Amino acid sequence: MQTDLIFKHQILEKLSPSFCGAKWYNATIWLGSGMTTSCHHPPAHLVDIEQVKQNPKLLHNTPEKKEQRRQMQCGERPGGCEYCWKLEDMGPNYISDRVYKSKIYTQEELKDAFNTPADQDIDLITLEIAFDRTCNFACSYCNPAFSSTWVKDLKNNGTYTDLVSDGRNHFTHTHDSAQLYKFGETNPYVEAFFKWWDSDLHRTLRELRITGGEPIMSAELWRLFDWFKDNVDKSQTKLAINSNLGGKAELIDRLVDCRKHLPSLDVYTSMEATGYSAEYIRDGLDFELWWNNIQKLHHADISTHCMMTINALCLPTLPNMIQKILDKRNEFGKDFATMSYNILRFPSFQSCLVLPQHIKDACVARLQQLDLTNMQDWEHGQLERLIEYLQVVETPHSESFEMPKLHNDFKRFYTQYDVRRNHTFAKAFPELEEWYQTL
Ligand code: SF4
Repeated sequence: MQTDLIFKHQILEKLSPSFCGAKWYNATIWLGSGMTTSCHHPPAHLVDIEQVKQNPKLLHNTPEKKEQRRQMQCGERPGGCEYCWKLEDMGPNYISDRVYKSKIYTQEELKDAFNTPADQDIDLITLEIAFDRTCNFACSYCNPAFSSTWVKDLKNNGTYTDLVSDGRNHFTHTHDSAQLYKFGETNPYVEAFFKWWDSDLHRTLRELRITGGEPIMSAELWRLFDWFKDNVDKSQTKLAINSNLGGKAELIDRLVDCRKHLPSLDVYTSMEATGYSAEYIRDGLDFELWWNNIQKLHHADISTHCMMTINALCLPTLPNMIQKILDKRNEFGKDFATMSYNILRFPSFQSCLVLPQHIKDACVARLQQLDLTNMQDWEHGQLERLIEYLQVVETPHSESFEMPKLHNDFKRFYTQYDVRRNHTFAKAFPELEEWYQTL
């Protein structure tokens, strides 16, 4: 904390009071929709398709971002970065993501960015991309913008009805703008990425994280991995993918086989419950298959990470999932499936905060009894913050609806979900059934 404050005051603020390295060196780019943003906080915007055909660097260096860089160089605050400004306005010693997302770059890199004319193109150092939204799962907290199986659900069964708190309209349309090009069609945004990758990114990117959809179902992931096979030692970019690890066996085997051509590979997978509870939340999952696959990757020298999306349904078996991983570490070591907790905020009716306090308390009591011998210190810190959140926080976020509306939506959503997905809430969550019946 202290070093972060020193970094804020002595490095960042010396450049300008609103400077952030992420605006220059980091991007998230959704190639299926042609949208980009700097970090995940500012709203995404569309990349001009005609211009990007001429200059692939426009995938990141859009006129919008260049204007925001100019503002930051002058000490002005770009509106899209409101998330950070709100935090910083709480006092000079408050630290926002501007610090965390800048301190991963060297002081030299930060100075170079600040001194580069705002209208000049910059090569990225860290990048997250999604090639498309093809995915074999339709998790209850996901939506059609990120999953083609969710699209099928809405196309086959119609939209979800009577939800009043779905302010982002996750479940009321098929989000066609998330996938501008059909399967098999040439996507100019994808072509621009590969052009830029060939010319510069393979050299300048320290980290490339590929998300989806499910990346291993995308032909473009294998195209990228083939590049590494054909260009041995030409790139040191650290690769990471977000995978549900529920793909066909031949795709998992292909991933294992590709490892030898890559400088490194980290796989991030989501899991926060066990058995049928997990299969209910992450529709499409075969829990035992997932468990076998994550072990298979570990044996293949692939770093594994388990992202736990903390939602209402996972609390009864979350402690079991954590203990399962910790127990396996007796055999595999403390680096196996490192665990992080991401608290679900949207859709807010699926937040763990909709549960009555006694159910949250029961989960907390079990979390406090875990045998943490095999847990890393930073994981322990995260677990403590989660416990505090379950004990103290009462509303999912500032814009969320009042609790009775969230409860109504919870019941309405899962009643429809059971029918569409052939599931049974009571069978998946006997611990929640009594409360569920009161809704
Ligand atoms: S200032 Fe904050 S919101 Fe803006 S790009 Fe940096 S980290 Fe993201």
